[in-house]
Amino acid sequence: MKILVLNCGSSSIKYQFIDTDKKLLMAKGQVERIGMASAVLKHTPHNGETIRIVGEILDHTIAIEYVVAVLLSPNHGVIKDKSEIDAVGHRVVHGGETFSGSVLITDHVMKALNENIELAPLHNPPNIKGIQAAKALLKDTPQCGVFDTSFHSHMPAHAYLYGIPYQLYKKYKIRRYGFHGTSHRFVSERAAAMLNKPIEELKIITAHLGNGGSMAAVNGGISIDTTMGFTPLEGLLMGTRCGDMDPSVILYIMGKEELSLMEANTLMNKHSGLIGISGESSDMREVEEAFMAGNKKAINAFNVFNYRIKKYVGAYTAAMGGLDALVFTGGIGENSPMVRKAVCENMSFLGINLDLELNENAKDEMDLATPDSKVKILRIPTNEELVIALDTEQIVNEELAKQK
Ligand code: ADP
Repeated sequence: MKILVLNCGSSSIKYQFIDTDKKLLMAKGQVERIGMASAVLKHTPHNGETIRIVGEILDHTIAIEYVVAVLLSPNHGVIKDKSEIDAVGHRVVHGGETFSGSVLITDHVMKALNENIELAPLHNPPNIKGIQAAKALLKDTPQCGVFDTSFHSHMPAHAYLYGIPYQLYKKYKIRRYGFHGTSHRFVSERAAAMLNKPIEELKIITAHLGNGGSMAAVNGGISIDTTMGFTPLEGLLMGTRCGDMDPSVILYIMGKEELSLMEANTLMNKHSGLIGISGESSDMREVEEAFMAGNKKAINAFNVFNYRIKKYVGAYTAAMGGLDALVFTGGIGENSPMVRKAVCENMSFLGINLDLELNENAKDEMDLATPDSKVKILRIPTNEELVIALDTEQIVNEELAKQK
């Protein structure tokens, strides 16, 4: 099946066109600066050069028209007719408590997505716009939604409840949801395949470390806890997000600096984390460079980043009553030997022993643990788009079977 995977943000759309039968990425690209006069479409067909088109792209509908047009283009395209797009898979950030798995988009689903907007006011509206635009352009093509939250939807109440009055949970659905679910699911399944064991028998901690970062405790294939919460702000220190913090801190800053709600939100989401502590950069490569050069603030930022991950490894090992594998993924998890080394240091009491040479030369899917390490330490490149494509394929096949 040939599936167009769309990840629609407020002013950008990332896409991949995947042939699931051949497991082939036929093309990928992104549209940036939607709504501005100088929007840019970058498109890379497999076995081809990246092309760049600059022009006015006023909204998501026009952006998706461009994406389909470039997929059809005689010079840079990969298909001859729109009908070759068998289905569209959409990344949707927040499924709330409504969606515990991926779904075929129907009118009923659209209604529920709209009801969840309040939970993700920045992310869900562009996701919905993308779905509406794709439905309008590809009328007879099935569309599916794959949620960042759904892999975590089986967390037990003791993991998802906050210590606030229960009626606030009931009234406003304030609870922990977790995000990056497609990535945690993908890498935990790959870990089981690498260990050649059924996932039902494994206790796995997955660390997805990118600009945003989260960890999950995956016990028997089920996410029983994760570091992000009601929003992606909770948990690890991230590129620009503060992660775990005494909630009083923000009230105190708001009072002292006379910040509005919006300003406080921006402070915690955009000016904190690695950039906040280091004052240098939100990009781990640059923080590491400054660390090596002896920059004290960068050393602090790097240390806080790794210390949090280490603490959660301990916490989740306790939550699961053991650990078989620790997985590193995401831009930092896959590419930073320094971070993996710092996280795994002095962890042999838990059976975590990193092979320093393998760690330095890690690539592809690889076990980086020493032969005597009880816990496997796995580098696994994530592939969220493939998960979206495979879920979409499965849903479409089930629908086709129902219609027979
Ligand atoms: P996003 O969350 O935006 O998808 P990515 O998963 O691409 O982000 O991760 C981006 C992060 O990965 C950045 O902090 C970047 O510095 C970091 N990164 C990429 N390559 C390396 C590397 N070789 N060493 C350290 N960090 C790296």
